[in-house]
Amino acid sequence: MLKSIINRRRIIQALIGAAVYIVVSYYQISLWYVLLAGTITGIVFGKIFCRWMCPLGFFMEIIMGMSPEGNFRQMYQYHKIGCPIAWVSGWLNKYSFFKIKTNKTTCLSCGKCDKQCYISTLNPEYSLYKTGKRHPSKQFSCSKCLKCVSVCPNGSITYKIAPLGEMAS
Ligand code: SF4
Ligand code: SF4
Repeated sequence: MLKSIINRRRIIQALIGAAVYIVVSYYQISLWYVLLAGTITGIVFGKIFCRWMCPLGFFMEIIMGMSPEGNFRQMYQYHKIGCPIAWVSGWLNKYSFFKIKTNKTTCLSCGKCDKQCYISTLNPEYSLYKTGKRHPSKQFSCSKCLKCVSVCPNGSITYKIAPLGEMAS
């Protein structure tokens, strides 16, 4: 179920992004409310606004994909710069209710997750499965694309609500 949602992320982003754009422009809603929405979604899900809901993010991803420097590098830089919504929700990646977790007991060490993640691909300090490395999902740059969850062959990476005691871990 989650994998099929992740595989349709661009369609979902296009639909939600168009709805956000129409509502904001038609009703002339203050961008402060959009920031508030990004903050609330950040508290619950982490930094999902950019890659699942943002109309600008939708077009930025297309433009980044056309870059001769490579999609990964461009997306990484883009998500480091961000916008006020990205700054707030990126910081909330560490504290959100939903978290990406790796089960190292069942992990096959195939490395597919790291190859899909622009953070671990570009920075060897990070890994979704290697011991002693920093988990990329807690970083500001993790935009909850959830490719790591989608690509894992045996469900060792999950994205679900964390127990209360693990909220800030
Ligand atoms: S969701 Fe997974 S693949 Fe995407 S940036 Fe975050 S850690 Fe990397
Ligand atoms: S994709 Fe899954 S099984 Fe493969 S290294 Fe990553 S967590 Fe382990």
